Order: sequence, then C-alpha cells, then structure tokens
Amino acid sequence: APAPPPARHLFSDPAEVEALRRNLLAWYDRCKRDLPWRALAATEPDADRRGYAVWVSEIMLQQTQVATVIDYYNRWMQKWPTLQALAQASLEEVNELWAGLGYYSRGKRLQEAARKVVSELAGQMPRTAEDLQELLPGVGRYTAGAIASISYGQATGVVDGNVIRVLCRLRCIGADSSSPAVIDRLWDMANVLVDSSRPGDFNQALMELGATVCVPKAPLCGECPVKQHCQAWRRKLFGKPPSVPDVEDCGVGDCPLCPPATEPWDSSLGVTNFPRKAAKKPPRAMRTATCVLERRGCHGAPEYLIVQRPRSGLLAGLWEFPSLPLAQNLQEEKEREELADHLQAWMGRPVAAKSLKFVTEVIHIFSHIHQTYVVYSMHLDGDVTLDPALSPSRWVTEDEFHASAVSTAMKKV
Ligand code: SF4
Repeated sequence: APAPPPARHLFSDPAEVEALRRNLLAWYDRCKRDLPWRALAATEPDADRRGYAVWVSEIMLQQTQVATVIDYYNRWMQKWPTLQALAQASLEEVNELWAGLGYYSRGKRLQEAARKVVSELAGQMPRTAEDLQELLPGVGRYTAGAIASISYGQATGVVDGNVIRVLCRLRCIGADSSSPAVIDRLWDMANVLVDSSRPGDFNQALMELGATVCVPKAPLCGECPVKQHCQAWRRKLFGKPPSVPDVEDCGVGDCPLCPPATEPWDSSLGVTNFPRKAAKKPPRAMRTATCVLERRGCHGAPEYLIVQRPRSGLLAGLWEFPSLPLAQNLQEEKEREELADHLQAWMGRPVAAKSLKFVTEVIHIFSHIHQTYVVYSMHLDGDVTLDPALSPSRWVTEDEFHASAVSTAMKKV
C-alpha cells in the first residue's frame, strides 16, 4: 500500500475538523447567495422533486457561471417542473431552451436520463451517490455527490473546481491538482470533512467559499471564515525562514502532494501558489466556411437557410448556416470554390464561386477548439428546391432564427 501522505496535508485532528465545520457553516448561514435551486431544495417536501431540481442546476452549472444559469434554470423548471415532464419533451425543445448555454450534450443527456428514470426506474430518482452515478447517464462523481448530499442528506463529500482550490490552499497541496493522485486525496479529504448533520449545506458552503472568497486570483483571506485552519494563509503570514531546510515542503523532497522541487513556493504569489495545474494543451485551430443564404420570403421579409447538424459530435442536432470545415492554409479563392460546391449539393443547381460575397471572419472559442468562421453571404432570386435527401433544413426569418436551437457561435455569425 502507498505510504500515507505527510500529516500536514491531512485533516487528522478531530477538534480542528469540528471547528472548521462550525465556522464554515456559520458563515454560510450568514452569507450564502440566494439561488433559486437552493430555495427549492430547502422547501420542497417531495424528495424526487428536490433531487430533480438540484440535478438540473448542477448540470447547468458545469462550465457555466451562476449568473448565466439562473435565467436558464428558471425557464427550464417552468417548462419542465418534473422529471416526468422532461421525459416527454423532444430533443428539439431541449436544444431550443439550452441555446446559448454551451456544451449542448449536457441538455441532451439530462433528457435521456430523465427518460430512463421514468421508463426503467419507475419514475424514482436513485437516492445515493453510488446509485446516481451508476444509473444516470451524464451524472459523474461530483454531480452524484451533490444531488445525494443536498437532496437526500447523504453524508458524502464533493470535489469540484472551487473545492479543489480551497482544499489545496487549506493544506498547501502544490502537486498537479488535475493528477489522479491529488484528486483521490482531495476526495478522501472532502469525505472526512463533510458534516454528517448538514452534508448538503456543508458541501455548498465549501463551494460557495471557493466561488466568493477563496477565488482564483485575489482571495479575500482577511474575510475568510476558515483562515485559522489554512496553511497557505499561515505560510503567507509568516513567510519561510531563509537558509533553513525546507520543512514547509515536508523536508523530504519527494512528497507527492508538495509543489515539485523545480517550482518551489513563490512568496510573491502568496496563497495563490495553490493549486497548481499542469500546463493546458493549446486549443486546436479550425477554419470553417459558412454561408448566410438569403431569399425574400412570401411576406417580403428576408429569410435565411439553416440546416441541422448531425445527431452526434460537437453541437449535435443544433441548427446552423450551411457550413463546411476547411483545410488550414487554403487560398481564399479555393475556400470560396469549396463552399460553392458544398452549396450546390444543397440546392441541386450550380453555384458560381464569385456570387459568394465575403463578409468577415468570426472567431469563437470552444473549450478545446479555436474556431474561425469565414463568413460569406449570397442572395437568391426565385424559388429554390432543397434536396430532401440531405440533412433537415428550413428557411427562417431573423426572429425565428433567434428562437431556434442555434449555438452562440452561429448567433455571432
Ligand atoms: Fe482561501 Fe485565504 Fe481562506 Fe485560505 S485563508 S481558504 S487561501 S481565502
């Protein structure tokens, strides 16, 4: 068995753990933000409804700011207040409501999981973190822990980005915080710390602390309710005695949780020495030609052609202007020709490359892709018959475009 980590990286003193819980929960009771899913989880007597509400909020909050999520959450719960209602929705409706929130597969998986609960689990949500993770598609360890602790009172910890930051600072963990060894330790720690009488509040308090006080760049340590338990804070206050063996880094040089010897504590960074991450891979660069095809609709208003993306992959099932991924470093003339060929397939008639008018380039950053849309436009006269054998397509007015399941990138275009 691997050797246990040095004591300085653990919470091994029960009295300290108790004090930390007390201080953190008292702060949370005083300072927590009013959020609609919290209000519902605190007042809803039906456990399945509580579980559903927390589940929706947690899926929306993955990779998305709280301020953005609130409006989406409220609209979602108004439209589908129960699992059963969501199970009856179509993917198109889900995508329309999700439009602009990003990471579209989240909405799709939420709906698939709701259908599964209704059809295979008699409409009842699993009640433990283990069952939630095992039985619900799209529910990982974090989301399962959040639902089980907040909705069903299971004393189980959670580890998300905010918790990682807080715990790494509390215990001076400076090894790569995305490595499996560190992540395992943090889960152990979260499970030791969680308060068994108020597990949901404790987990939310720890996340809230990371979101509002122990923030990435300029943490408000002076206002922090757990600063007396924070080793990073202590180290910042007292500094490191010069020319003394590095006892702060466990003194052994090969501690799996300390900063690597090549990147020791930097006193100019203070507590933000923690956490540390391995350098991210730069996003992949992609170029896509896209064409805004316009015609005059039957009431004289302009209409635009949108087509549906494949059912799997990036932006699955969303609608977009006809688009074509391009090889890097193509000449503009060649890009135009390729786009014209692509459009010809849609319209079943020749499209002259020179009739495509270059408009601009639009950049959109997906999490792992740096996408450049090369935008062209073309005005069509007369009737156009689209090839029904290709993906679904339709003509929409500008208002209809904005109400459709289109991505933020296409709205920019
Ligand atoms: Fe974070 Fe500072 Fe509080 Fe430590 S004292 S937990 S670094 S806010």
